[in-house]
Amino acid sequence: MAQQEDVFKKLVAHSKEYGFVFPSSEIYDGLGAVYDYGQNGVELKNNIKKYWWDSMTLLNENVVGIDSAIFMHPAIWKASGHVDAFNDPLIDNKDSKKRYRADVLIEEQMAKYEDKINKEIEKAAKRFGDTFDEQKFCETNPRVLENKTKKEELHTRFAKAMNDNNLEELRQIILDYEIVCPVSGSRNWTDVRQFNLMFSTEMGSTADGATKIYLRPETAQGIFVNFLNVQKSGRMKIPFGIAQIGKAFRNEIVARQFIFRMREFEQMEMQFFVRPGEELKWFEHWKQIRMKWHKALGLGEKKYRFHDHDKLAHYANAATDIEYEMPFGFKEVEGIHSRTDFDLCSHEKHSGKKIRYFDPELDHAYVPYVIETSIGVDRMFLSILAGSYCEDELGGGETRVVLKLPPALAPVKLAVLPLVKKDGLPEKALEIVDNLKFDFQCQYDEKDSIGKRYRRQDAIGTPYCVTVDHETLNDNCVTIRYRDTMEQERVPVVELEKIITDKVSFKNLLKQATAIR
Ligand code: ATP
Repeated sequence: MAQQEDVFKKLVAHSKEYGFVFPSSEIYDGLGAVYDYGQNGVELKNNIKKYWWDSMTLLNENVVGIDSAIFMHPAIWKASGHVDAFNDPLIDNKDSKKRYRADVLIEEQMAKYEDKINKEIEKAAKRFGDTFDEQKFCETNPRVLENKTKKEELHTRFAKAMNDNNLEELRQIILDYEIVCPVSGSRNWTDVRQFNLMFSTEMGSTADGATKIYLRPETAQGIFVNFLNVQKSGRMKIPFGIAQIGKAFRNEIVARQFIFRMREFEQMEMQFFVRPGEELKWFEHWKQIRMKWHKALGLGEKKYRFHDHDKLAHYANAATDIEYEMPFGFKEVEGIHSRTDFDLCSHEKHSGKKIRYFDPELDHAYVPYVIETSIGVDRMFLSILAGSYCEDELGGGETRVVLKLPPALAPVKLAVLPLVKKDGLPEKALEIVDNLKFDFQCQYDEKDSIGKRYRRQDAIGTPYCVTVDHETLNDNCVTIRYRDTMEQERVPVVELEKIITDKVSFKNLLKQATAIR
């Protein structure tokens, strides 16, 4: 684990050093859980978005996109339930002045019991070797049983307090279980308060009676309220989907883990509208499609898993997460939810407008059911960085840091490097860049030794480098070097476009996503 945390720290440092992600407002000491994307980060991020957008809108003739505004009528957030229920319970430690989520403190306490149980099992497994019967051990060992009981008692009390929205009881649990602040070590806690995660601001001047409005905490509501606009103007037939990419804002209480949990982030969401009763079939369909999309990136099949929700939101009848194995464990990257007709019905009620679809085959109108796929761009970005980051041993004590990014997503596809800064080599190299810059992102670099230039390109994940040498001026050939294998090959300049386009094209990546079984 310590080693993994180390990898994570290196990743954060690497992201900054190579222009992927910077802390926001850094010269003013930063702004909590807000980040800026640098010159390479923005290219990678745009490529992730393109991969998602094209997979939705090109590969599915019944999925179309929209781009709705961040500001929306405040009644929308009442209808969606966010004004009343988009809350986290928070608690402060009076000594350290640190703020925590009360539910997370309690969950961490439960995890401690789980850890103790696992340690007992590990110890016993070592002691008994091949004859170890884990099930029997767990059923009889007094220390395991004691921790299991403690955990179950705590879980029951916690679940009841959460369901009853009983904040006093949450605090009492923290006191009874002697949970201490990890910073001050004290049990000097404030009361637990509900904290709404939505940011609000005012629209209009105060003299006119300004209205309180919210920064959207999810993009999905912009899709729901445009359901009829899109359906009618596009003459869409159910089943069909609406996709959207855009910023979302949540005033997260504890914002740690770099771009995993941010206060301003980006989502890629798709709502798929179906006939009532057919939603579970479509839920399965989208689960499979979305998992293939992830796996096609080639970061490793074992890095992904589904995690079904055992506690469903009141409006959902099925929900699962796609988790990716980050350096800090398996974490949610995408949520897939069967949201029933909850949102559209609620908007009907609050707006007083009918939101129905007349189904010509069934010859009646209904409120469609919805399957949602919702993925965070920034979490996806983090998973790709984590999955691509490698430290290769090169022998002779030498190492290189390389981002083995999927070629289609790499910020720069080709670096063109003149061997020396004279003899007409820079001109020849620039001529190659000028020819290829219409096809993909190219970079010209003439500074430092070739070795150093290769390392710089490895560090930003450039899949191809070509070197222009004196021979190039005679034979119009260059040496192409492949990032992952570091193999080199002599190829004619005229063939570069074909060699590279093939490997870096979104077309091939999309084909891959549809080919996976
Ligand atoms: P979590 O349980 O981690 O807070 P969530 O279940 O609230 O996430 P959803 O509301 O389902 O998340 O949002 C869909 C997706 O949006 C998530 O899978 C995640 O990728 C992304 N996302 C949500 N909150 C954040 C955040 N604070 N920072 C970055 N991405 C986020």
